[in-house]
Amino acid sequence: MQQEVIIVGGGMVGLSLALMLAKAKIAVKLLEAIQYPNYEDADLAPYHSSFDARNSALSRRSVQIYQELGLWDVLQQHATPILQVHITEQDSFGKARLLAEQEKVENFGQVIENAWLGRVLLTQVRQQPLIELIDGVQVTALTQDQDYAYIKALRGQQPLSLQAKLLIAADGRDSFCRQALGIGVDEHDYDQVAIVTTVQTSKPHQQVGFERFSPLGPLALLPLPGEYRRSVVWPVKKGTEQEWLGDDNDQHFLAALQQAYGDRAGKFQKTGKRFSYPLSQVLAEKQASGRVVLMGNAAHTIHPVAGQGFNLCMRDAYVLVRSLTEQLAKSSDIGEPRMLLAYEAARLTDQQRVIKFCDSVVRGFSNQNPILKLIRNTGLLAFDVVPGIKPLIANYAMGLKA
Ligand SMILES: Cc1cc2nc3c(=O)[nH]c(=O)nc-3n(C[C@H](O)[C@H](O)[C@H](O)COP(=O)(O)OP(=O)(O)OC[C@H]3O[C@@H](n4cnc5c(N)ncnc54)[C@H](O)[C@@H]3O)c2cc1C
Repeated sequence: MQQEVIIVGGGMVGLSLALMLAKAKIAVKLLEAIQYPNYEDADLAPYHSSFDARNSALSRRSVQIYQELGLWDVLQQHATPILQVHITEQDSFGKARLLAEQEKVENFGQVIENAWLGRVLLTQVRQQPLIELIDGVQVTALTQDQDYAYIKALRGQQPLSLQAKLLIAADGRDSFCRQALGIGVDEHDYDQVAIVTTVQTSKPHQQVGFERFSPLGPLALLPLPGEYRRSVVWPVKKGTEQEWLGDDNDQHFLAALQQAYGDRAGKFQKTGKRFSYPLSQVLAEKQASGRVVLMGNAAHTIHPVAGQGFNLCMRDAYVLVRSLTEQLAKSSDIGEPRMLLAYEAARLTDQQRVIKFCDSVVRGFSNQNPILKLIRNTGLLAFDVVPGIKPLIANYAMGLKA
């Protein structure tokens, strides 16, 4: 029997989850505040807070999930595999390298353009008969009783009232649904803003990803389709971002990158427009409440330092769909509250590990104390020589440990 589920929020997580549910033969209504574009042309312009100029490092586990959904062949047209990862600190001797070949894997994951990911997911959602997509609709109220979750929404001036046995809130970091349920958050502002752009370098990237810890912040340079294109994510101190934004600052930005990276990537020749994202960690105090479950950034928003946020959400979504399928095999109630609590409990270990890891990398590398710097350098060197550490970290980064 088909059960109806409502998802609020059609960002990267909401769309991916809707497709996973449809594959499990679970019908879903997906509500999204923005009006999606029509894609009648070949335009790949960013159009949405999720599917913007950013690129996402997808772990091998996320790639596997898209393979299972039959989407990877299309997605990989705008993706680049990561064959090596180099971690270094500016003005320091420590360095660490991970090589896919040495770890006996094809790659450590793939970097994909968010605008492409969004376009492919949306196209697929529109073709899927088990998904009813309602866009341009703002959810304005959420309540629940023992049997149903109820929402009120506005589509332009038109009011909508809907109910479902299960409501999945994937409505982002500032989740309206989470607030409507009175679920608090544990929030930490990193006092940083991520500068995101695409650059061109004189040396080909050779599918190498760099993580460089500089006094300004941890700088990630990831390979993109096209031999010389690289994605930049550079968290800088909040308040200093204007120095790097704006069309007349291109040369200044390129010079700063050059200084931070040295000549590993050759000359930084061109830069695209820079975008900025304030960085904070926002963790919901609980993720399941009655017939509602929080997913994606609504459940946990983390620092992008290690490119783990969306990958973690994909693993959550995968496990949730498995729990729902098992639930339907034994009961007709797809939103059974105890099952949702069990889902949350099952995900906590993986979530806490990733959250702790990302948070300690940011805090650990931000401190310029010389003794801490020495410890970090020794740590990076040890990473390169101590047997057993690399496969552990590599598995973890690839998202295969969950
Ligand atoms: C700079 C940066 C780089 C990153 N890089 C990586 C990376 O390399 N790898 C990785 O794994 N992760 C990365 N992340 C994390 C990743 O971007 C997030 O995990 C992901 O975007 C979360 O998506 P989401 O769908 O949960 O939330 P969102 O993208 O915020 O989507 C929420 C959706 O809900 C809709 N919505 C909100 N309120 C309502 C309402 N009331 N009614 C209806 N709809 C509503 C919004 O319009 C939106 O479409 C990065 C993050 C940043 C900031």
